[in-house]
Amino acid sequence: MTATPDSRPEPLLVATALRKAYGPTPALDGADFTIRSGEVVAVMGPSGSGKSTLLHCLAGIVRADSGEVRYRGHELSRMSDAERSALRRTDFGFVFQFGQLVPELTCLENVAMPMRLAGARRRAAEAQAAEWLERLEVGDSAGKRPGEVSGGQGQRVAVARALVGGPRVIFADEPTGALDSLNGERVMRLLTDAARDTGAAVVLVTHEPRVAAYSDREVVVRDGKSRDMERVA
Ligand code: ADP
Repeated sequence: MTATPDSRPEPLLVATALRKAYGPTPALDGADFTIRSGEVVAVMGPSGSGKSTLLHCLAGIVRADSGEVRYRGHELSRMSDAERSALRRTDFGFVFQFGQLVPELTCLENVAMPMRLAGARRRAAEAQAAEWLERLEVGDSAGKRPGEVSGGQGQRVAVARALVGGPRVIFADEPTGALDSLNGERVMRLLTDAARDTGAAVVLVTHEPRVAAYSDREVVVRDGKSRDMERVA
């Protein structure tokens, strides 16, 4: 066996020299990014710097104009749309700022939905969904609709939904942006604890240092360019 320079696991998701323009101004101008299993990486930077665009490119939602994104060695741009959609269903979980739960469904049904879409039977999916709701300390909300729970509870339901299928990567775009600091910290603690327990990687877009403090590492995006930061203790 050849010796590796360090004992860290192989990179899970690697982006190299990503460029993406909307009109004349570049949203990404040569951004690089690497994340390994079990890592929580905060993508920081001012508004409009390209953080969400980077997340969308990493998740295969947006196609970069140039550069590449490799997930477990496979280049996303070489996959068909169907393959990329399947990957997002099976390997990726998503948490956004708000508006992600289906209002007509109960919280339990919302969390069970990714598993149902992946072909699981209703009873099995709902049993697992109930476990995740408990784990996210929001078991009482199972029978309620999203409109009947608080913002903090709704975000914990959304985190449960992102985690239920056992994703390898969780993409979280300003997951606490609509919450007060106490609820935000609770969501971050539960999200990062659950991810570390399951070995999932978390790509966390935030402009709040207090939220980024839950990460292992920070990548700062400025004018579409990214830079790895050493955590200043
Ligand atoms: P951030 O997440 O850091 O706020 P974004 O990635 O959302 O930054 O945006 C980076 C730049 O790209 C901004 O100038 C933004 O206006 C532009 N942009 C992002 N998405 C689109 C889009 N779908 N259409 C046009 N311009 C966009």
